[in-house]
Amino acid sequence: MNYFYCDVHTHLTHGRFCDDQKEVIARAIAAGLGAIVSNGLNPVSNREVLSLAAEFPQIKPALGIYPTDAVNDILPEDYLYRVDRFDVDAEIAFIRQCAREKKIIAVGECGLDGHLVDASTFAAQERVFEALIGVAIEHDLPVIVHSRKREVRCAEILASLGAKKVDFHCYGGKSKHAQKWAENQGWYFSIPANARVSESFRKLLSSLPPEMILTETDAPYMGPVRGERNEPANVVGTVAYLAELRGWTEEDAKKTVWGNYLRLFGHFSNASA
Ligand SMILES: [Zn+2]
Repeated sequence: MNYFYCDVHTHLTHGRFCDDQKEVIARAIAAGLGAIVSNGLNPVSNREVLSLAAEFPQIKPALGIYPTDAVNDILPEDYLYRVDRFDVDAEIAFIRQCAREKKIIAVGECGLDGHLVDASTFAAQERVFEALIGVAIEHDLPVIVHSRKREVRCAEILASLGAKKVDFHCYGGKSKHAQKWAENQGWYFSIPANARVSESFRKLLSSLPPEMILTETDAPYMGPVRGERNEPANVVGTVAYLAELRGWTEEDAKKTVWGNYLRLFGHFSNASA
């Protein structure tokens, strides 16, 4: 069987790729990536993700609503970042329709955030997260979870709804919790490309059950070199680092992570590239 690298969480429709998006994708494919799961955040990026995926078989579309976008209607006027106003329920319905039509490989990015917004938004965030988990479960799709500073609450909600196909992206919570959820719930953790400079990601790479480890970039963010734009091809370095930490060959590490990708996402019609 052929095996490839995978980036299970990236944002190729981000403005920082607008000048050379095609070159970035070509570099990823040349580096051996068989799957680049491009995650949407809101109505605009969700539609861009779908059209990008129609162009390249390696681009796998995931649609979601980012936690701050999920509460766009209650953010203060002077909120620090630009968040467009839109009808969240209409977007959930759109994502559900795409899931029904088997146009998407996963639901995400979605989840809870306790860093960018305050506790007054938590109930509204949870309502949207629960609805999107519901879409994923209804259609047997994985859910790609943003859990910054709300890791335990995310896990409580996922467990209470019975979500089985879960990827925690850029997980920043306690590693003992990750260990427990990987072992007891069968939830996956995708490790970003800056693992070599992050004590907590190094710890996850070396201690999680190997069959629960995935690679991601969150590009353009979270690059291996601070301040430099990240891109999907950088997952190759994370797989090399995983091999180093475990005393495996790079081929074995690549094979393991690709097998994990296929197990979680592989039912999608063209998921095996
Ligand atoms: Zn992201």
